[in-house]
Amino acid sequence: MALIVMKFGGTSMAGAERIHNVATRVKAAVEAGHQIAVVVSAMAGETDRLIGFTREAAASGGSAIADRKEYDVVVAAGEQITSGLLAITLQAMGIKARSWLGWQLPVQTSSAHASARIESIDTRAILAAMASGEVAVVPGFQGLDSLGRVTTLGRGGSDTSAVALAAALKAERCDIYTDVDGVYTTDPRIVPRARKLPRITYEEMLELASVGAKVLQTRSVELAMKEKVRVQVLSSFSDAPGTMVEDEDSEMERELIAGVAYDRNEAKVTLVGVPDRPGVVAAIFGPLAAAAINVDMIVQNIGTGVGAGGEGHTDVTFTVPRAQLPLSLDVLERARADIKHRDVLSDPAVAKVSVVGVGMRSHAGVAVTMFEALAARGINIQAITTSEIKISVIIAEEYVELAVRVLHTAYGLDAPETDLLEPVA
Ligand code: ADP
Ligand code: ASP
Ligand code: MG
Repeated sequence: MALIVMKFGGTSMAGAERIHNVATRVKAAVEAGHQIAVVVSAMAGETDRLIGFTREAAASGGSAIADRKEYDVVVAAGEQITSGLLAITLQAMGIKARSWLGWQLPVQTSSAHASARIESIDTRAILAAMASGEVAVVPGFQGLDSLGRVTTLGRGGSDTSAVALAAALKAERCDIYTDVDGVYTTDPRIVPRARKLPRITYEEMLELASVGAKVLQTRSVELAMKEKVRVQVLSSFSDAPGTMVEDEDSEMERELIAGVAYDRNEAKVTLVGVPDRPGVVAAIFGPLAAAAINVDMIVQNIGTGVGAGGEGHTDVTFTVPRAQLPLSLDVLERARADIKHRDVLSDPAVAKVSVVGVGMRSHAGVAVTMFEALAARGINIQAITTSEIKISVIIAEEYVELAVRVLHTAYGLDAPETDLLEPVA
């Protein structure tokens, strides 16, 4: 007998029939003798719909954005509904079950509404319930802050709820059920020849998630790594073996590159003719940070003056989340007197493509393969960043799918023709 946390994502919870399918899986785990806590997402599309309502409500009163605290009250509702529906379905199938909302446990979080961090989870009540043979159904994504207000964890946050609950319950495993049957070498929806990885290291999964592979929320992987939670990614719709996320094991034979990821949520800003003096970079990024704008890549040219606004000047290029581009341009305009740049150029139609693998540490030439493969297709690289196990480039958004496919082939990740992915639900 083991204590297992099972998490079901939005597609898995979308409608009575799928919730019944989830309940059947939970029932099988209970009948196998396990103690089960289930974490659920809202039905697919529901969180977007609820966010739409908050925008409409704010706009009808003339405001561009809704109050964050009330936004959380609204968007947390999607998970409240699915947790109740799953408990009802389990009961109807003869399985003892009840829902435990974030504020009831409680799942204690910071007060950063819409992107709150879990601080602790009080597990006493559900441990007692589970010990008596009752399935605990917990809505993901939601919590309670120290002021008694409902919070949410940021998009995709139910993965983090599940891992945090698994850590707090000292669960044997956290099984994340989704609409693909594991972590692939890239998004199987855009590369049909993507291959399923039987296992992946926490470190690689963390990098992949942080550069756009949304199969797991980045913070859930961070937490799993820190708390040593064994995470498995599997499908709600098939019994295929999934992917284990685990520590690196020197015995294991690893691919050079674990995967390729992309992120369309980027916009590029270039400040032209910035005076090349100490403090100027701080003058640029200070005000952006103060406005809570998350700058990703930064490229600064050497101040030769060639093509950069004359002697003693330089150009600085960086990326920001696309939704924050208008705000970023506004902040830079207001800081113009301090920065003293000549001009600002911006491009919202860029994307980031990244390759990730722990094998990079011990192999030379990994970056060259990437640059040559993109060049061979005429894809221009606009900016580059690297970490120990990752290379990211910014390219025009229109080439993103082509670039992912080309890199997948260039690093030898393509599955054999005969082994293509079954269509997913
Ligand atoms: P859920 O609603 O279950 O949380 P998500 O939509 O958040 O599901 O995540 C699953 C999706 O992640 C898949 O449908 C797939 O398109 C996408 N994805 C992106 N990169 C990968 C990858 N490397 N491996 C598997 N899936 C990926
Ligand atoms: N329902 C939330 C979202 O769509 C959280 C989640 O499903 O993980 O972002
Ligand atoms: Mg998700």
